[in-house]
Amino acid sequence: MNKGKKLYEGKAKIIYATNEKDLVIQHFKDDATAFNALKKANIEGKGVLNNRISEHLLNLLSQCGIKTHLIKRLNMREQLIKKAEILPIEFIVRNIASGSLSKRLGVSEGTVLEKPLLEYYLKNDELGDPIITKEHIYTFEWATEKEIKTIDKMTLRINDFLQGIFRGVGIKLVDFKIEYGRVWNQNNELNEIVLADEISPDTCRLWDIKTEMKLDKDRFRKDLGNVIEAYQEVARRLGIMPEETNISEVNFGKTASIKFKKK
Ligand code: C5P
Repeated sequence: MNKGKKLYEGKAKIIYATNEKDLVIQHFKDDATAFNALKKANIEGKGVLNNRISEHLLNLLSQCGIKTHLIKRLNMREQLIKKAEILPIEFIVRNIASGSLSKRLGVSEGTVLEKPLLEYYLKNDELGDPIITKEHIYTFEWATEKEIKTIDKMTLRINDFLQGIFRGVGIKLVDFKIEYGRVWNQNNELNEIVLADEISPDTCRLWDIKTEMKLDKDRFRKDLGNVIEAYQEVARRLGIMPEETNISEVNFGKTASIKFKKK
């Protein structure tokens, strides 16, 4: 497999062509951005961890019958993936209120939602990725009703699987963002909708079950420190850091960031 020219560079990843027209290489960078790239940093080792964590989770989802773009991990920072036409929509699932939901609607952070809340956002940096409804999606033809029906079902199944995977290693899956792509066949006919992009601590909110310590990108967004240690902890608990696989207490020292809900 030969690596070809750069096709696209995003905030945290680069896509390269290969000598096979249906396959591309996804490269994970160490760059971290937040607040629509107003805050930037380079977090050494983040790309390597996200590559491993996302590979692990997508492989588990694929074993549960979810179609994904992942073919295989190639090396520390790269994956071979199916070339897909990414829908211009971010699909966000929330199990516990946090982040923009709490800010926008005044719901206290940590409120457990009765059932998963599925939201749609337009992928558009200039507009700051605005929240949209299904009606916007159909009116502007960002996806068809049939595609959204398939995706909604897939997304809720993914949430169920991921919640179970994380709960099993002492982590609450608060919320996450996923993206989907259309894969075309030889005759340029739509073949399938696949889960694309990545699932990692960059794209999920992950809280320790006991302490509610944040083990995700909020550590970077909120300047909580120990960003890479938190990502490593997620990888270690998932059993993909070969040297250690058991669950143990996380102790990053300062715990001022943890807020306890008033009962
Ligand atoms: O910021 P907000 O609360 O809307 O984010 C919800 C979830 O989606 C979080 O887990 C966040 O990390 C993820 N997200 C993302 N990429 C974005 C927006 C949100 O991965 N562009």
